[in-house]
Amino acid sequence: MIPKLPFRKVLVANRGEIAVRIIRGLRDMDLEAVALASDPDQAAEHVRIANEVIFLPGASSGETYLQGQKIIELAKANGIEAIHPGYGFLSENADFAAACEQAGIIFIGPKSDVIRQMGDKVRAKALMQAANVPVVPGWSGDANADWSEIESAAKAVGFPVLVKAAAGGGGKGMRLVQNPNELKDAWDSAAREAQSAFGDSRIFLEKYLDRPRHVEFQIFGDNQGNVLQLFERECSIQRRHQKLIEETPSPALNWELRARMADAAVKAAKAMSYTSAGTVEFILDGSGNFYFLEVNTRLQVEHPITELTVGQDLLRWQLLVAAGQALPLTQEQIQPRGHAIECRICAEDPEQNFMPSTGHLILYRPPEGPFIRVDSGVREGSEVSVYYDPMLAKLVVWAPDRDAALDRMSRALKDFVIVGVAHNAMFLRSIIDHPAFRAGDSHTHFLVEHEIPGKPACDNPLLQDLALAIAAAPKQTIQPANEQNSSAHPARISPWTASDRWRNHG
Ligand code: ADP
Ligand code: ADP
Ligand code: MG
Repeated sequence: MIPKLPFRKVLVANRGEIAVRIIRGLRDMDLEAVALASDPDQAAEHVRIANEVIFLPGASSGETYLQGQKIIELAKANGIEAIHPGYGFLSENADFAAACEQAGIIFIGPKSDVIRQMGDKVRAKALMQAANVPVVPGWSGDANADWSEIESAAKAVGFPVLVKAAAGGGGKGMRLVQNPNELKDAWDSAAREAQSAFGDSRIFLEKYLDRPRHVEFQIFGDNQGNVLQLFERECSIQRRHQKLIEETPSPALNWELRARMADAAVKAAKAMSYTSAGTVEFILDGSGNFYFLEVNTRLQVEHPITELTVGQDLLRWQLLVAAGQALPLTQEQIQPRGHAIECRICAEDPEQNFMPSTGHLILYRPPEGPFIRVDSGVREGSEVSVYYDPMLAKLVVWAPDRDAALDRMSRALKDFVIVGVAHNAMFLRSIIDHPAFRAGDSHTHFLVEHEIPGKPACDNPLLQDLALAIAAAPKQTIQPANEQNSSAHPARISPWTASDRWRNHG
């Protein structure tokens, strides 16, 4: 039975796959889902499936989905009762959450003061340390510390050190420093990047752990004071500190270590009086020592793998908590089953240093089959523009054990047909099939240490069938938007003969 909630009309202040996922979840609960549409997103998938659309003129993120004040005004004018921010954009913007609270609109997420506190990594670490959660050793002096003080602090921490932005996120404002000579340049450039990305140039130092794993815990809290953890996600496969492949359970944890880390995550959640969905991120070294990194105060990109193993819809939980209800389960009732893996499918070219690729999705056929979930932000015919994140979809699979999940993921990646933009599906498959990854031997430098082919030979039978079908269709013409068909014979596009842009995996 669908529970009755004290709000009906919910604005999704986001775009792409997460907006699509949230709109679907709202509709599951018979709520009215309202989408935002920027100029390039007029025909986007999240706009197509919403119950209502609010136009947001402009193209760049800065002009559109990051305009908190404008979005709140539009929400008020359109009778919006609650806002879901998704991830990225305004999701961790404490001012936006506070402005929603002030405007009498329910912000579906934690309280603005918790977002503010966790948005400052230095404050977050101090709070966690006080709560007996282990943090990465480091130094955060006051803003007026003179250079000699910073230099000796770095020596005391011990090289290599990581220079980090207090307001950092998405891997920005971070520099690895191997020796004292590199410190000054790294510090200054990180501060500049942090100032331009976050409007806050404060920098701190952390001991740089050698090839750690990234292991994070899903936490959830309600307004009745209940706090739970929904186990871990291992996100060690990263490129430039950005996650690419995530799985749960982590192959690195036994039940003893998992229990200790879960306990630290719950301590962290309690120290913040956390409400709604959140993630406590840790790095884990080879000896089973783990250290708090940060809290992400939102629904995470990789939340579906947790949904598949615990069998719960985390968006539904967020809506229940936002409506003032208690969490639907107790800690003892949460029993993860099997193994889930997620791959982030991006429009970027592994052969050209992962340069974002734009264009028209001439073919877009996500894989199908048992225990496969695809959260797409696009459909066949969509335009992939230069304006936003290049992630097209998340491919998520579940199986009773890790080996079966890897086999299923490998097959699903091979079956994913995308024609019109360059993409990373075959690159991801090379990782999934790599003997070291298969052995569970992942760490955050995996992609630096292992040579991963970006475009192995294509042996996708579906694509071969498609090529034959296209060739066999006599009157059918498929054309890229910018190419003219001048001859009397319609141009037939075969993935095998066309230019690079047209090919799928080849
Ligand atoms: P996750 O662990 O959920 O992947 P990320 O830190 O990679 O978390 O961020 C998720 C999304 O939000 C990415 O698209 C990233 O680029 C974006 N993002 C993260 N932090 C910020 C920030 N401070 N400002 C703008 N975008 C951000
Ligand atoms: P962001 O806010 O950009 O997500 P994080 O602090 O969560 O920043 O770090 C992002 C990634 O950078 C981690 O997942 C890990 O791979 C790496 N990292 C961060 N801190 C350290 C550290 N002290 N030692 C080694 N790697 C680190
Ligand atoms: Mg992080």
